[in-house]
Amino acid sequence: MEVKLAEYAGFCFGVKRAIDTVHAQIDTGKKIYTYGPIVHNEEVVRELEQKGVQVIEGEEDLAACDGTGTIIIRAHGVPKATQEAMEQRGLECIDATCPFVKRIHKIVAQAGEDGMEVVIAGNAGHPEVEGIKGWCSGPVTVIETEEEAQNFIARDGQKVCLVSQTTFNYNKFQSIVEIFQKKGYNDNVVNTICNATEERQHSARVLAAEADVMIVIGSKNSSNSRKLYEICSAECARTYFIQTLDDLRLELPKAVRLVGITAGASTPNNLIEEVQNYVRINF
Ligand code: SF4
Repeated sequence: MEVKLAEYAGFCFGVKRAIDTVHAQIDTGKKIYTYGPIVHNEEVVRELEQKGVQVIEGEEDLAACDGTGTIIIRAHGVPKATQEAMEQRGLECIDATCPFVKRIHKIVAQAGEDGMEVVIAGNAGHPEVEGIKGWCSGPVTVIETEEEAQNFIARDGQKVCLVSQTTFNYNKFQSIVEIFQKKGYNDNVVNTICNATEERQHSARVLAAEADVMIVIGSKNSSNSRKLYEICSAECARTYFIQTLDDLRLELPKAVRLVGITAGASTPNNLIEEVQNYVRINF
């Protein structure tokens, strides 16, 4: 039996950069906060907590902290007002927003200045989308489905700027773009899905199509991990979604030739290796 890891899996550039930022700050010995968990991965967050990194869960927590120390903005980014609140609180603010997300903040801020209505293709409840909304100065709408795209009507004939959450499904975004084109809402369409997502989704799909069993490692609250699971399940009926090795309850029949493994962008390398080794040794 062969065990194969998807060509692109695990920590993406932005998440690695944010975690490295936290580690570099721990080394300074100062009091360190992160605004929200630095990644959607409980293992990583727990490890950082053991090193004294405190998670600030929202504006209430922020108001309650004593205003000394350094606060790190995670890769997802935050609304402009939240960043200002951190600075007003007297904290040293280090912005580890992924440059690909920062680019979206700039696009929507500019669109607002140009009097355009912003539409974000994404999940309204996701912190990245909340952050993007917080950089819009004019009207903004979040749409998640083709149906919502069909039903969308721009306010007062306003021009529309369409962007996407970085982890949005590529094919779904293309369908939304086509719907918008037909409606004449194509004034400023920017595909802001990041390569890390496309690469991970594509290589997961390719591997799942040839695998007999597929394992997706990621946190249940990580949207990109859940999407990988969705994609792999469509190609491979025996797809398992696990958070840690403890969740893996595999019973493989002899006929299994290939076990594929992939992992979300917030899954650390040591966890991927652990799962890979376990499957290799035990089957
Ligand atoms: Fe940045 Fe892309 Fe990673 Fe998001 S998925 S943090 S945009 S590299």
